[in-house]
Amino acid sequence: MHKPLSQSFQSVDSGEFFAVGVDIGGTGIKAAIVNGRGDLLESCRAPSPRTVSSLRDFVHSVKQRAKIPVRGIGVGCKGIIDASSTRVKSCPGDLCFLEGECLSEVLDVGDLPICAENDARVALIGEVLWGAARGRRNVVMLTLGSGVGGAVLVDGAILTGVNNAAGHLGHTTMDPHGGLCICGNYGCLETYFSSRAIESDYWAHMHRAAPTKLSMRNDGELPDPEAIFRAAADGDECARYVVNRALEYLGAALVGFLHTFDPEIFVLGGNIVAAGPQLIAPIQDKIARRTRILLGREVPIVFQKMVGFGGVAGAAGLVFVNEKLLSI
Ligand SMILES: [Zn+2]
Repeated sequence: MHKPLSQSFQSVDSGEFFAVGVDIGGTGIKAAIVNGRGDLLESCRAPSPRTVSSLRDFVHSVKQRAKIPVRGIGVGCKGIIDASSTRVKSCPGDLCFLEGECLSEVLDVGDLPICAENDARVALIGEVLWGAARGRRNVVMLTLGSGVGGAVLVDGAILTGVNNAAGHLGHTTMDPHGGLCICGNYGCLETYFSSRAIESDYWAHMHRAAPTKLSMRNDGELPDPEAIFRAAADGDECARYVVNRALEYLGAALVGFLHTFDPEIFVLGGNIVAAGPQLIAPIQDKIARRTRILLGREVPIVFQKMVGFGGVAGAAGLVFVNEKLLSI
């Protein structure tokens, strides 16, 4: 049993100690052996497990590949995770088979400590320990992927709330009359600015035979956000409309978060970062217009440093913090 991460923490130069970091996502699972400086020594990925036993087999195979003793296993997982018991309290969608499960029991690794937290929170922990938010004490992070995850560091402590649900910023209502979200609410940020939202908006235009430059891919998949952002830059009117609309919602949401949390820095992570630096300038512009009176200062908006395996590193970082190997 491990305490939830509610203390303030900061990074220090650490010695050679190691942990297994695991990041369970809706489409893929990633893991690595991570050292105390956040370096990934060995990493692997696989399609997301669909059963408890396939998750256990994956983690055991990673652990066996470690040629060195590890201090524990850290797990980042979608949904609401009770860090004190490692129980998955709520996880709608592809990983719903984990709901109600206690990850330390599921993984069954003997006496090795197991820590678990929400995936966006571990990504933020990784960025605070080793990445784009290193040394910061007030940070807001959004992970922009198939959904929108969020995590908030306030005065050096991860905001948890009374039920561990705090920081689910992707479920901020942008339009009370908007579409139904996975969470049961309507018009959440996630329904406007996630890879699935952008893909489906572009597809809706294709379906209506609006003039689009992209078409279905050879494998039958929709054009992905990276292609849609590129098409927008190349003059595809439809892509430009879809991207501008999504950015308008994202910018408005960020303004709300800036007014709510007043952070030093805002970190954007997740697959959508592949859209590149062209994402940042229009967002900064929209934010500057909307914050000029009350906030009156420019807040840096940066990309996650550890793209791809940031959640894995952060999950291992959770072990280091809980085991007091990195100073708090
Ligand atoms: Zn929602």
